[in-house]
Amino acid sequence: MSPARPRPVLATVPLYAPDPSAVDLDLSDNVNLWGVPPAAARALRDSPAAQPNVYPPSNPVQLREALARYAGVSAAQVITGCGSDDVIDGALRAFAAPGEKVAYSAPSFSMLPTFARVSGLQPAPVPFRADGDIDPEALLSQRAAITYLCTPNNPTGTGASPAAIERVVLRADGLVLVDEAYGEFSGQTAVSLLARAPQLLVTRTLSKAFGLAGLRVGYGLAAPEVVQVLEKVRGPYKVNVMGERAALAALAEDIPWVRRQVEESVAIRERLRVGLEALGLRALPSAANFLCVPVPDSEALGRALLGRGIKVRVLRALPGIGDAVRVGVGPWASMERLLAALRQVLR
Ligand code: PMP
Repeated sequence: MSPARPRPVLATVPLYAPDPSAVDLDLSDNVNLWGVPPAAARALRDSPAAQPNVYPPSNPVQLREALARYAGVSAAQVITGCGSDDVIDGALRAFAAPGEKVAYSAPSFSMLPTFARVSGLQPAPVPFRADGDIDPEALLSQRAAITYLCTPNNPTGTGASPAAIERVVLRADGLVLVDEAYGEFSGQTAVSLLARAPQLLVTRTLSKAFGLAGLRVGYGLAAPEVVQVLEKVRGPYKVNVMGERAALAALAEDIPWVRRQVEESVAIRERLRVGLEALGLRALPSAANFLCVPVPDSEALGRALLGRGIKVRVLRALPGIGDAVRVGVGPWASMERLLAALRQVLR
């Protein structure tokens, strides 16, 4: 018997393993801390018709139609997945051959270079511009098979300017993937570029503003030809029965709830920024539902907050930023608790 031999590249791939400590207040995942929207919650509670012994639709037509209405595109332009992670991963496998590059502005979504390496691709990070915007020329000069733009960007929270996004989308040679996981919070989207850009894929999720992270429903918007390729790569049955049901209810009835939560998150985010400033902490500008706060030693701060029952995301040595903590926005009482803990820790 010969031993199983993992591909050598996997030795360089980190395991995505966020701190599993149980805490009272988890601000580390940028999820909706107000909870599940009401119609989705009702659908989950009152659906005895669920048949877990049969498969969900292999390619959920109803859900694609509902997402298409929400996004203002046709159902043929929608691909669904098990979270937007699934759509991003599939896109990397579908639109770049092993050895080709994936360009992105760093720091960005930590799973992007991981997905790239696992698919045998070469992550090609480029710096942001000094003003915090993405640098279209630096991205285009990579001549990558795939260019990834995350806006608002995780972990910085910063939004890319529409002009810079448009320049990359219209000029790049290969696929341009615009990750709008936090798009609802910025109110900005690249979807209108789909009409002019057959190489554009916009990915989105119901995990953030829609409050359904545990159900793992994500989607992509692209030309029908791109969607067809993604369908082959993704495989069937990625959205489970309960996820589909809750997503349909949320898209039919919960949009006003989502809009209210987004408004409240944005207002609280800016109130939190002021509270942090009073403690000498300067968060980066944010268009998302979280703040990225540069600090001298993020691990020490993360540990001290954990000791007080609060979890934030600890970020080490981010390019151009250094150490930082990423803090998700939640109801004001939870932000007050964070500020009180920081006041003690930073004394
Ligand atoms: N993109 C970004 C920028 C994210 O931060 C996340 C999750 N943290 C995702 C995609 C994936 O989210 P999901 O798979 O839940 O849709």
